[in-house]
Amino acid sequence: MDRVILIKYGELSTKKGNRNFFINTLYNNLVNKLKKYDVVIKKDRARMYVTFNDKQLEEIKKVIDNIFGIHMYHIAYIIESKEEDIKNKVLEIVTKEKFKSFKVETKRCDKNFSIHSQDMNQLLGGLILKNIKGVKVDVHCPELLVKVEIREKKTFVYLNAFAGSGGYPVGTQSKGMLMLSGGIDSPVAGYLAMKRGVTLEAVYFEAIPHTSLDARNKVISLTKKLSKFTNYINLHIVNFTPIQEAIYKNCREDYCITIMRRMMYRIMEIIVRKHGGKVIVNGESIGQVASQTLTSMAVINSVTNIPVIRPVACLDKLEIIDLARKIDTFDISILPYEDCCTVFVPKHPVINPREDVALVEEEKFDYQAMILEAVENINTIKVSEEESEFVDLL
Ligand code: ATP
Ligand code: MG
Repeated sequence: MDRVILIKYGELSTKKGNRNFFINTLYNNLVNKLKKYDVVIKKDRARMYVTFNDKQLEEIKKVIDNIFGIHMYHIAYIIESKEEDIKNKVLEIVTKEKFKSFKVETKRCDKNFSIHSQDMNQLLGGLILKNIKGVKVDVHCPELLVKVEIREKKTFVYLNAFAGSGGYPVGTQSKGMLMLSGGIDSPVAGYLAMKRGVTLEAVYFEAIPHTSLDARNKVISLTKKLSKFTNYINLHIVNFTPIQEAIYKNCREDYCITIMRRMMYRIMEIIVRKHGGKVIVNGESIGQVASQTLTSMAVINSVTNIPVIRPVACLDKLEIIDLARKIDTFDISILPYEDCCTVFVPKHPVINPREDVALVEEEKFDYQAMILEAVENINTIKVSEEESEFVDLL
């Protein structure tokens, strides 16, 4: 083993009191996500070290790129902390690179090592200048940065820095329940929530036969894509048909969407409480459609005291689409299957609904019983990258 992936934590290092919890969560996430590779993962307070099999490196990097809580990582060479070994290794790896300017940055963590950091920089810099033609030292903006970390027994030498995906490790925050439709926005909202460490479960409202099994499968595929960023996601499927039909039968047409969404929020509140969640997460974006004007949002939100996190609230659609492409959900989201929100669209949905009007309309049918029935009959699927299976959580 002469190389190791050196992982630097980034933002979590500011969380003093929680440090161990953050590091352990990141460690467990890494262990889980890398379990099918030949790796050994070690951790200390400042970083993690992953040994790997050369043939699997590219795949392992792709996995690491999706794990939140990693600020940066390097592929580092490990050598004995001996002057000759360090010189040879630096020259060997630098010779393979194309560059015009460089800088050597030595960190002498082992104060017993006889050469001081600054002297080591000069020694190694001189060696490079002597052996590679046409290069010069640039301490401010070098094309190539050669990092040397001298520790008690071993020294790390590395050039490249790969940006990690940042954020906090998934699992460092409590549970959020994502309202996941088949659209573009809600998967992105789920991704952004996980990026802040939120433990995610998803809820999909379906209205069979008005919506199809294809639409359900689309949501399962989206959940699978999201599970790339965590171990697995429980997807709760709510049969929304009776409520939706009752709304359209009994309530005034322009208020149907407002009421439908108020019903969704009421059901979400029960699901959140039942599964020990703390917040609702959804893909609402200010002004995108009639039900997402601030007035609409307020009237819809007023049925629950559970906080609602809207990660894409202030993003433009194009910004959301960029993220959807980045996390590879876009192509699934644009598949043309109907959603329960799209099958019963009124011609002129109210843009500035009034809560008193919504309340009057809701009095027209016994929604409480229907909500309880919907919650009783939820089906849950445990979705991971590898598989999805129905589970009984009762
Ligand atoms: P998306 O927002 O996912 O692109 P959309 O824009 O069609 O889909 P809207 O009708 O704007 O969805 O609904 C706003 C948000 O409400 C969605 O982002 C999603 O979080 C939630 N939502 C809508 N329909 C459903 C559904 N059938 N099941 C679960 N959540 C839903
Ligand atoms: Mg939307």
